[in-house]
Amino acid sequence: MTEEKSIFSKIIDKEIPTDIVYEDEKCIVINDIHPKARVHLLIIPKKPIPSLFELMPEDKDCMGHMMLLLPQLAQTHGLDGFKTQINTGESGGQEVFHIHIHLLGN
Ligand code: 5GP
Repeated sequence: MTEEKSIFSKIIDKEIPTDIVYEDEKCIVINDIHPKARVHLLIIPKKPIPSLFELMPEDKDCMGHMMLLLPQLAQTHGLDGFKTQINTGESGGQEVFHIHIHLLGN
């Protein structure tokens, strides 16, 4: 049985056209379709890890890379402070099962 691709994997594979704010070999950054702040970015690894529960030791580099990107993204969006959120599991409010970090700021 093949797992269905997440909406974010389809965006990463350019099957769904979306404005990509930033992209490198490890991740992409897009604007949330339903922003909850003036700036609401989603930082998404290219590797389709469903949630923090499935994170493996070999993902440390990718996750660290995304953490280091957060302040850079905040600064390029004119933010002097921001919030981050990683919803995990249905009871944690996760809707898209492909890890992503929300970056929110006003
Ligand atoms: P979660 O609740 O899984 O942490 O958040 C998923 C987020 O993805 C939500 O804030 C939702 O608005 C956003 N989202 C869902 N589908 C799309 C989409 O097709 N494009 C974009 N840009 N954002 C999406």
